[in-house]
Amino acid sequence: MYRLACRLRLAGAVYNDTKGVTIELQGEEKTIAEFLARLQSDDKPPLAEIKSVAAVDAPVIQGDDKFTIRPSDSQGTALSQVTADIAACQDCLAEMTDENDFRHEYPFINCTNCGPRYSIVKTIPYDRPNTTMSVFKMCPKCTAQYEDVTDRRFHAQPVACPVCGPKIWLTDSKGHTIVAKTDSSIAEAAGLLRAGKIVAIKGVGGFHLAVDALAEQAVRRLRRRKRRDHKPFALMADSIETIKKYAVVGEIAEQVLKSPQSPIVLLPKKEGSAIAASVAGGVDTFGFMLCYAPLHYLLFAQGVEVLVMTSGNISDEPLICKNETALEKLGQVADAFLMHDREIYRQLDDSIIHFIDGRPVPLRRARGYVPTPIFMEENCREDIFAAGADIKNTFCFAKQNQLICSEHIGDLEDAEVHHHYIDSIEHLRGLFEVEPKVTVRDLHPAYLSTQYARSLSGVKIIAVQHHWAHIASVLVEHGVAGPVIGIVCDGTGYGTDGAIWGCECLIASLEKFERFGHLAYYDLPGADKASKEAIRPLLSLLKKSWGKEFRLPNFDWLIERIEPETDENTTYDIRNTKYISEQLDKGVNCVETSSLGRVFDAVAAMLGLGAYNHFDAQLPMALEAIIESGIEDHYDFELISRANEAVELDLGKTLKELIADVKKDLPAPVISAKFHNTLSIALLAMAKQARESAKLNIVALSGGVFCNRYLTNRLIELLKREDFPVLFNREVPANDGGLSLGQAAIAAAVMNHES
Ligand SMILES: [Zn+2]
Ligand SMILES: [Zn+2]
Repeated sequence: MYRLACRLRLAGAVYNDTKGVTIELQGEEKTIAEFLARLQSDDKPPLAEIKSVAAVDAPVIQGDDKFTIRPSDSQGTALSQVTADIAACQDCLAEMTDENDFRHEYPFINCTNCGPRYSIVKTIPYDRPNTTMSVFKMCPKCTAQYEDVTDRRFHAQPVACPVCGPKIWLTDSKGHTIVAKTDSSIAEAAGLLRAGKIVAIKGVGGFHLAVDALAEQAVRRLRRRKRRDHKPFALMADSIETIKKYAVVGEIAEQVLKSPQSPIVLLPKKEGSAIAASVAGGVDTFGFMLCYAPLHYLLFAQGVEVLVMTSGNISDEPLICKNETALEKLGQVADAFLMHDREIYRQLDDSIIHFIDGRPVPLRRARGYVPTPIFMEENCREDIFAAGADIKNTFCFAKQNQLICSEHIGDLEDAEVHHHYIDSIEHLRGLFEVEPKVTVRDLHPAYLSTQYARSLSGVKIIAVQHHWAHIASVLVEHGVAGPVIGIVCDGTGYGTDGAIWGCECLIASLEKFERFGHLAYYDLPGADKASKEAIRPLLSLLKKSWGKEFRLPNFDWLIERIEPETDENTTYDIRNTKYISEQLDKGVNCVETSSLGRVFDAVAAMLGLGAYNHFDAQLPMALEAIIESGIEDHYDFELISRANEAVELDLGKTLKELIADVKKDLPAPVISAKFHNTLSIALLAMAKQARESAKLNIVALSGGVFCNRYLTNRLIELLKREDFPVLFNREVPANDGGLSLGQAAIAAAVMNHES
């Protein structure tokens, strides 16, 4: 604004205040009009996003002929000064490759339009002394740019150069320096990677474990050393052209890959691609990202084609971001460490994006997106803290009209993740100066997040039902208060009746909900084991579907088809069926559930796709990955309505027909397609009944099962064909990573309308 005002010779001032940004302008009317037009044109900085502009007349101030940047009123500024970490911009990359530039080949080049932010900020205000760059004293050249209002690096806090900034070195797995100089250490690391070695690389949000993605032996070695990790590995390349060799890149996917947020994007695998088979087994996509740190580009320039770049951690622990911790924990995994001395204050995973109904939607929201707020229609009365869920945890603060959602934290049952959760809450609270008077927790009494919420003193605690929060996350993203028809397809969430809910049709607004329908209850034996071992829901569903006619030996042929687990780390034993069957008969350690995720587990197991979820939704993802396209067939199902009771979706007929297909040896990809098709038709039928009954038209979709692209796309298509306007998550994940946003939105709405 300063640059634009000076160029147009307008007097006045610009400053931050409680309403946002205020600009006072004094000059010819038509020049002011031009200023306003150019403010919103392409002249604005790439990262600037203008939500709205309002202009009013103001009295002329005599003798005012300059334009100034006034210090902001720190008392309750509307917006936080801390923004997300942004991928290297084209200007910086051009300078980095320019031999005559003083930052030629400098891996920490950045400017106002790019570079680290949230990951390096310790506290506010966002000034260099409050970042991890405080230990580097700016040289005169950098200082001159930092202080020049017309320069691209004006007030770019992490500005640095080879003379004054951070440096890179390479160590062996014990931490002994192999190469001390920045440029030669990058070249050496690239050489090790080309030779099939595993290199831990410190980036923007933490360490990656890197290996040549085309070398099967090397990738397998990484998988073995990382232990118990069955998840697909993320990949990195330095150009869209390279990515296109291995995956299908659509127009929108290309835009997302090249965006300043630079997330991992899930792309359909290209048939016969040269990527090592063990990079991403059991799924039909590759997760690709483009280089985003200048260091990545310098590394790839040394003849590296495509790298596995997976999170530097052991199994489900938090991402590692400190040099010493990396050596201590990853010393057994990596052959070498490419280190630097720009401290990462907050670790941030790479964000993951996939596509639903042709639109990019997040599966994991972290680097590049956090801490950008999501805005509400109304200001909330009090600051709010929402504790989130225990799996794929995020938490959320509400302040004024902003919902500030944390980065992906992880599964709280891991002690280190739990510690990281508490630490992160304090950090984000400080950055946004939030003073919560209200805490929201999930209805589940045993959740660790519930226990944390209960431990907070002096705040009012609101408990919110899991699936209602899922629907609320969609409503607040779209600025819709409801009521709507909310369809949630999920793994598990605690219900108001003490059962474990999962597949729900709710009539929901931000202020209240009622349960219109759900998947018919079945018993889930063995508590925690039930979400891992597919045999448990499978036996239960067989018993439910066949009722009195159920005889275990009649299904021996089916049970025999289930792949026995060979993983040495699991205690799972297929011969437990008799024991589990007795458990079901006696109702020992069983809980009623309407979980849809577990039905997917059971079907995947019957089709020989595995019997154990080594990570969340492994079996459902495998079931989706094999779907044969172009199949329109489906199975039968029943919607059962009884007076004064919620409508029940019964899949008994579905399973009987499906098992008959298995017996006939119909190919698994066809059975999987028919199963998915059945669910989309059944959910459409449920929505139509809800429309009839509640006289509502808008459908909102959320829940972890809607990370299944085939099911979600098909359901959306069917709903649209029947004239339902459809809303789904676009800003936060549909899985439990989006739950805290919905929790906070509900608390804000409920409090605002309390009399
Ligand atoms: Zn830049
Ligand atoms: Zn410098």
